[in-house]
Amino acid sequence: MSARILDGATLAATLREELRPRVAAFTARTGRPPGLGIILVGTHPPSEIYVRNKLKAASDIGCRADLLRLPDTASREQVVNAVRKLNESPAHDGILVQDPLPSQIGGSQAVFDVIDAAKDVDGFTPVSAGLLVQNRAVLAPCTPSGVIALLERSGIDIAGRHAVVIGRSDIVGKPMALLLLHRHATVTICHSKTADLPAITRQGDIVVAAVGRTAFVRPEYVKPGTTVIDVGINRVTDRSEVEALFPERSPRRADFEKRGAMVVGDVHPDVAEVAGALTPVPGGVGPLTIALLLRNTVTAAEHREP
Ligand code: NAP
Repeated sequence: MSARILDGATLAATLREELRPRVAAFTARTGRPPGLGIILVGTHPPSEIYVRNKLKAASDIGCRADLLRLPDTASREQVVNAVRKLNESPAHDGILVQDPLPSQIGGSQAVFDVIDAAKDVDGFTPVSAGLLVQNRAVLAPCTPSGVIALLERSGIDIAGRHAVVIGRSDIVGKPMALLLLHRHATVTICHSKTADLPAITRQGDIVVAAVGRTAFVRPEYVKPGTTVIDVGINRVTDRSEVEALFPERSPRRADFEKRGAMVVGDVHPDVAEVAGALTPVPGGVGPLTIALLLRNTVTAAEHREP
């Protein structure tokens, strides 16, 4: 059996196209485009790429997209001041502080806490988290919202199914579990202290892996026919690890030979032989995160200027 592949990249393109008329209508009505302000502290190379992609995606659909850069040495006060500036800016409807922040800031949440909830397009403020718990979120976290969009648009039933979420982070695992719960799944959340994890994941009709460990979910973790969502993004540079995961003639291996590195999810490739449906990495959940960030930006703009 080979799993149906859930194509996140194609859905992300569709979602971005669906936003164009909303952006055009907002711009025509208010005389300005929806605006996204991103704060980037330091020169963390993956963050540079993520931020560039977010700014480009926003500009491509007609939004205003601005980058506020702060040096590696920035204090928490400087970062908080940058957030306050965007909070007060009439041109910015969405604010994103790119994680991770340098250690002297003392944790990202202290900075997220300052973001005006009406502009919280990442959904990380306590107000957004509280509204999500009560099932009245306007701006829910982007990655789990992308997973829901993929399940719904792929015709995969959520109501009444047993969904098992592996991971309990504030940005993926917990909001993922809540979004599934609000769509009437029976939800189990697993984490690093969960006893006999495979026995629990084998009960799942839907399994979401948000662990941050390469190929963590193996075929024996999954019952036949399960929908498996792989949120993990793990950079692998070790040839022996690649050789253990992918057969000799696989295109993934050829790709690794070309680049010397590759991105692998939290789900082992052999799970495709057991699962009913599976998201690829790359090209699954990743592209949806940016599409949902744009959707949140447009939604925030529409709510700020109804
Ligand atoms: P995180 O904050 O490190 O959380 C990882 C979670 O996995 C924790 O709850 C942890 O449990 C759990 N875990 C770790 N080892 C485990 C084990 N052996 N058994 C069971 N659970 C275990 O990571 P995150 O921010 O949620 O991200 C998870 C993954 O998603 C990462 O690969 C990240 O790169 C990726 N990601 C992708 C996107 C995207 O756009 N596709 C966006 C965000 C994140 P404890 O709580 O007990 O420690």
